[in-house]
Amino acid sequence: MQLGLYVHCPFCISKCNYCDFNSQPAPTELRERYLGALIEQIQRRVSSSFAACVAQASRRAEPVEASPTPDAPHVTTVFCGGGTPTIYTAQQLALVLNAVRASGKLDPGAEVTCEANPDTVDADKLDALRAAGFNRISLGMQSLVDAELQILGRSHDSDTALAAAAAARDIFDNLSVDIIYGIPGQTADSWVATLAGIIALQPDHISAYGLMIEEGTPLFEMVAAGRLQPHDDDTYADLYEQAQGTLAGAGYEQYEISNFARPGRRCRHNLIYWRNQQYLGCGAGAASYLNGTRSVNIADPQEYCDALAAGEDIIASDETLDKPHWAAETIMLGLRTIEGVDLRQISQDCGMELETSHADTIAVLVAEGIATYDRGVLRLTPEKGFLLHSEVARRFFL
Ligand code: SF4
Repeated sequence: MQLGLYVHCPFCISKCNYCDFNSQPAPTELRERYLGALIEQIQRRVSSSFAACVAQASRRAEPVEASPTPDAPHVTTVFCGGGTPTIYTAQQLALVLNAVRASGKLDPGAEVTCEANPDTVDADKLDALRAAGFNRISLGMQSLVDAELQILGRSHDSDTALAAAAAARDIFDNLSVDIIYGIPGQTADSWVATLAGIIALQPDHISAYGLMIEEGTPLFEMVAAGRLQPHDDDTYADLYEQAQGTLAGAGYEQYEISNFARPGRRCRHNLIYWRNQQYLGCGAGAASYLNGTRSVNIADPQEYCDALAAGEDIIASDETLDKPHWAAETIMLGLRTIEGVDLRQISQDCGMELETSHADTIAVLVAEGIATYDRGVLRLTPEKGFLLHSEVARRFFL
């Protein structure tokens, strides 16, 4: 039995123009109160979630793989994300990690990631994070072009991002960086320049996300007012293909729609999500998936703290998936990855006949070069299939 742990920090220095995540600037007082609440939830939930998973697996007579002793530590990944976790000091983040460790469930070989923004870290802080037990840094760089960072409303410039990345590269064995394509005003040349600058830093992992212009964000308003021109679908696809080619040429394997890694450096935590495996989310708005039930915590940080202080339930909503929904979701998530999905295994788990019921769909996907199909495993092709992921996944909604 293995479990991923996600820890959410809902605070940032300022709100970026494109952001619709659960994050906001907040006074120090709320940030400190929240830290205490977060640690309390970790103390309450990590051990109990693990025990519940083991009990449930035993009731279902599932093989508890790699867990010969139920008490063995099997939180195999911790991902401290946000927001901007590094808005906290390294000492405060160490308290969070210590709470996980105190549960006795943290695997000594766990991948322990902290997301960071460039203007909240320097070499001393990164050193302290490393000493506290974080062994992977995920740095939000987004672009190396200042005009693009300004359009995104980022609180840092490219020089700050480069300095933070260089320090992180020196201190951490495992460095990931986030970049964005499809920024209004971005050109093929400026995207190539960002890719080249990022590759020169030699990160182990690169997440290249397509910009989503979400309703309710300042960026959406700017586009609606005609002050910014969004890219059309073809340009968007060209930028994506540019990233695929450039990163492949630099030795990065594409293992998911938006993620590229050097050999052996795939993000183990995110693989848990894409494989539809179990995880516990601590913090405001964090999602969990345990024993077939998805749940989401109260999103508002203040209300989350109040509920914990009052000893009330912090789950805002939950849903137990029936087998067809579980199958559709497993397919949708798995098709994001280069591993693809094992339709035979899913059929066996759910008492379905997916190969038969979707034989025509599979044949068309293969004929059009959108997917490959081999002994029950359906995989989207990076060249053609990944860009069509949503459309393909919809065909498996039952
Ligand atoms: S740093 Fe990230 S989470 Fe924070 S406002 Fe910007 S995009 Fe949102």
